[in-house]
This record gives sequence, structure tokens and C-alpha cells, in this order.
Amino acid sequence: MKKPQLIPASGPDSQQRRFRSALLAWYDSHRRNLPWRASRDPYRIWLSEIMLQQTRVAAVIAHYHEFLRRFPTVQRLAAAREASVLAAWSGLGYYRRARMMHAAAKVILRERGGKFPATEAGLRQLSGIGRYTAAAIASIAFDEPVAVVDGNVERVLQRVSGKRLSGEKLWAEAKRLLDVKRPGDFNQAMMELGAVVCTPRTPGCLACPVIELCATRGELAATSKPALQKKREIHYALNCKNGDVFLVQRARDASLMPGMWELPEVTRASDGTSPSFTLKHAITVTGYTVRVWSNAAPTGAGGKWVSRERLERVALTGLARKILRKAEML
Ligand code: SF4
Repeated sequence: MKKPQLIPASGPDSQQRRFRSALLAWYDSHRRNLPWRASRDPYRIWLSEIMLQQTRVAAVIAHYHEFLRRFPTVQRLAAAREASVLAAWSGLGYYRRARMMHAAAKVILRERGGKFPATEAGLRQLSGIGRYTAAAIASIAFDEPVAVVDGNVERVLQRVSGKRLSGEKLWAEAKRLLDVKRPGDFNQAMMELGAVVCTPRTPGCLACPVIELCATRGELAATSKPALQKKREIHYALNCKNGDVFLVQRARDASLMPGMWELPEVTRASDGTSPSFTLKHAITVTGYTVRVWSNAAPTGAGGKWVSRERLERVALTGLARKILRKAEML
């Protein structure tokens, strides 16, 4: 294999051009056929970008179609009740994202007549749209030449440059490489490369379109150990009666998942009995062992019985959904 011709930080930009053209040619022939790529409608691109934050592509696809079936336009989303929006979001987690989208849709309707801002700067004025999302929507829907940096792009840039770039240096490097004639495709190609070839572990360098220009051709040496995961055990009561299940609502001012519905949490002393089932659940750096006890007395204030048929329409927490699936209630 030839020695890599690294992309210089300044001077003649032929390596940058080679990088762009190799990456875009690969993207044109290898990109995954994802539903949001069939459209340049900013509403659809916005929805996909928000759903894809902290959620895998495979899990997003079905939710994306269902959400658009219920709210096909920003006008319909703005007019919806919050409970309906949260119910449509159920299963994706991080409900704050759905609340912010709902709030932003109302602003787009009320203050802009239903028209999206067409620039990164304008998009960043909307709630829930940060630097990355604004740049993604602006470049994909409106061809604005702005670069994106997400986790995938960061990894590609670090490996290609052979440097542990971070913060503004990463954004500057992404901007330097950006193809200003096809910014939306270039940004998606960088993210696609990170998602399917330059993966976190064992990158597929032999199938990589930019291997000739990559300084690392593999993983960058680690500089620190990954954070240790904390362990916690929690118990929930699964009360069922005539096909209904007892649920409680989280406080409206809770910092996590406010207003969402879940099973009542219970405390259990070790009395020699066994739970109905146990499952694992991870939230950021905490790994939970979740023990579920059938027909423990309902303890939640403000709880209610919900019929099995209605469960799909209730805004459940991700963990409640997981438990109810395991219990074959969903
Ligand atoms: Fe990533 Fe390997 Fe391609 Fe470099 S050659 S960008 S490490 S997949």
C-alpha cells in the first residue's frame, strides 16, 4: 500500500480536492437508502436529525414514518396537543427533544407563517436546534456551505488527520474539508463514512474511499480509559387487572422525562422471594438491574389503570416500554 498523502493544513489544496471527490463518489454509489434522504423538505430533515440524536438509525426508521403519518407538516405538528406528540415519540426516549420540536413548530407557524429559516444562523434561533442540527438542515435542505461535526465526523476527522482534535479545531477542520458545491451531500457522506466504514471499533480501512489520504488507517491510540459505568438496582411493580395495567405519571417538573408514564417504583427488602423477571437498562453512565414484581400493591400517587389497547398511545418512558414488552403487554 502507498504511503498516505496527508491533507496539509495549508498550501495547495489538491489533497483536499481528492478527499472530497473520493468521498462523494463513494457516497453516490454506496449510501444507504434512508427515508429522509428522499426529501429536501426542511421539516423532514429536521425531524430525522432530531430523532437520530442518541438513537440508532434502525430504531428511528419506523418512528420517523409513524410521526410523519400523524404530523405530516410543521403546521400539523404545531397544532397538535403535547400529549399526542409525546405519545408519537414514545420509544425514542429523551422526550425533551420532542417538546422542543413542538415548541419550535409553534414559533415557525406563529412568527414565520410556517416557513423555515433557510440559514444556519436563523435555524439556531429555534428551540432544540444547536450548532450541529442547524448546520445539517441548512446544508442538506438549503445548500448552505456549512460543515457539521457529530460523533461520526469527529472520529473520521481525528483518524484522517492523525490528531486528537477537539472543540473549535474540529469545526475548523470540517470546514476546511467541506465541499462547498455539494455541502449537504458532503456532510452526509462524512457521517455515513463514520457510521458504516470508519466505525468506532475495527474500522473497515480496506473498504475506505479515503484510505490513501488517511494518517491513521486504524484506531487512534487511546489516551485515557473509558468512564466506568455505575451500577444500580431498582424495583418496579407490574399490576395487571382484567387486561389493564397500573401506571403512574412522573412529576411535571421532574428533571428527567417530566409528565411521562411509568410503572410504580417500589422498594423491596430481600425476603427470599423472586421477582417475576429481571432486565438490564442503561442510562448514560448508569447500568440498572431492573427487577419487576407482579401484583405488588400500587403505590404511586396519581396513578391510573390503562387498558392494553391504549398503551401504544400513552407517552411511556423507555424503561416502562421495555418492561411492558417483556411482559408481553405491548
Ligand atoms: Fe477511518 Fe480507516 Fe478510512 Fe482512515 S482509512 S478514515 S481510519 S476507515
